[in-house]
Amino acid sequence: MNYTHVGEEDLSFFRLTCSPDRVIAGGDISEDFGHDEMPVYGSYMPDALVYALSAEEISRVLAHCNQRRIPVTPRGAGTGLCGGAVPLFGGVLLSTEKMNRILEVDEENMTATVEPGVLLMDFSAHVLNKNLFYPPEPGEKTATLGGNVMTNAGGMKAVKYGVTRDYVMGLEVVLPDGQIIKAGGKLSKNSSGYSLLHLFVGSEGTLGIVTKLVLKLIPKPSKSVSLLVPFDSMEQCIGTVPVILRSQLKPVAVEFMQREIILEAGKYLGRDFPDKSAEAYLLLSFDGGSREEVEKICDRAAELCVRAGARDAFYADTAERLSCLWDARGAFLEAIKSSTPELDECDVVVPRNSIAAFAKAVDAVAQKLDIRIRYFGHAGDGNVHVYVCRDQLNEACWKEKLGAAMEELYKEASMLGGKVSGEHGIGHAKIDFLRESEGGQYVALLERIKDVFDPNRILNPGKVVRR
Ligand SMILES: Cc1cc2nc3c(=O)[nH]c(=O)nc-3n(C[C@H](O)[C@H](O)[C@H](O)COP(=O)(O)OP(=O)(O)OC[C@H]3O[C@@H](n4cnc5c(N)ncnc54)[C@H](O)[C@@H]3O)c2cc1C
Repeated sequence: MNYTHVGEEDLSFFRLTCSPDRVIAGGDISEDFGHDEMPVYGSYMPDALVYALSAEEISRVLAHCNQRRIPVTPRGAGTGLCGGAVPLFGGVLLSTEKMNRILEVDEENMTATVEPGVLLMDFSAHVLNKNLFYPPEPGEKTATLGGNVMTNAGGMKAVKYGVTRDYVMGLEVVLPDGQIIKAGGKLSKNSSGYSLLHLFVGSEGTLGIVTKLVLKLIPKPSKSVSLLVPFDSMEQCIGTVPVILRSQLKPVAVEFMQREIILEAGKYLGRDFPDKSAEAYLLLSFDGGSREEVEKICDRAAELCVRAGARDAFYADTAERLSCLWDARGAFLEAIKSSTPELDECDVVVPRNSIAAFAKAVDAVAQKLDIRIRYFGHAGDGNVHVYVCRDQLNEACWKEKLGAAMEELYKEASMLGGKVSGEHGIGHAKIDFLRESEGGQYVALLERIKDVFDPNRILNPGKVVRR
């Protein structure tokens, strides 16, 4: 695809459509906008960075760019992990970060209507103040809700409450030709034809730019308690997960972690984890309507864990203890990042009963290639985050080992019935692995869907699908 670069006339149009202070050009754009949280996937600078404030502004910018064949890349907070929000072909980087108003909390329908640039942490706090709860809780709380919806972000509470998709009831979207459409609404159910709503969710800004979201809320649980459960081996640790899931105790979160990661997080945060003597840990969380109810559930869970081979089970029921555990869990990625000059990630999801087999395969790959690999993840939903660390390897050796490691990891996940991404998406970094895993016929259908929405391929080109 041949694209047009942004010229002086285009800049004038953007300045007139938005306002001059919200259009930044060329060398004035910070290098931070050339990548997301995975700089290993390269840096690609836009010709212009445009901060939009409304659907109408976005509509006019898109219609102009569509006509001129200027690529447009939507961007939220840039915390993505697969190169989704980087302008591979230059053009316009269109930020929805300043569209950050919570427009309404409808307490009767238990919905909220928001602009896409609202940060997850601000939104969660806002609704909690009204005794309502927005369950999706991806690790990075400074991400925007628009970015969360466009990546179908998962997170720690998915075991009980599901992922972002389960909380999206309505969207306003600007299509690449500038049309503004609405999908869904404040509706608890909807069988009115194909669900465009669910096609947009997780589409990584390749089909349209989201300008308004209607999100589902639920009543706030009164009490939550976490359990830290140490094990002598990862095998025992992961083997306990089905026992907990079958128990009808309905855990909110079931996270697993290696000892090495806990040590790295402690070093990174300058704060000790409550226990670091075991090889592997489960971090469980439960919630409910009263302290007694949740404590009873925790007692039963602790009993099941110990019976399955756990060394012990430590309760965390005060704000301080909970933050000690969950802050450490939230810092894993940053801690691993700070321990190595470069890393690459794979975010596969496998059937829950295959996590142990996958973890074993990761260890085998690390040993075979003599490379440091760290992993942790959402044991309750089969989503494993694997980080291959460069450490002291020279460029050529790193590239060779990384390529071989990724190839084997994705192959292993696929053989276990898994998929390329559980929650981070495809971006441009995982396109080849998507094709390998899903096959040409499947990808060809994705490309045809892309063509229906964006025949000129101006919107976030080179993401999810190659063309
Ligand atoms: C420390 C850390 C922990 C993380 N933990 C998790 C986790 O637990 N679970 C998880 O799922 N993710 C996690 N992430 C990844 C990341 O936070 C999510 O992918 C998040 O949803 C990205 O939101 P963002 O606002 O930063 O979007 P960006 O990175 O800016 O963009 C992400 C994608 O959405 C598109 N996009 C953004 N805004 C719009 C819009 N308004 N309209 C159309 N398209 C748009 C972009 O084009 C891009 O394709 C983590 C990241 C970090 C750094």
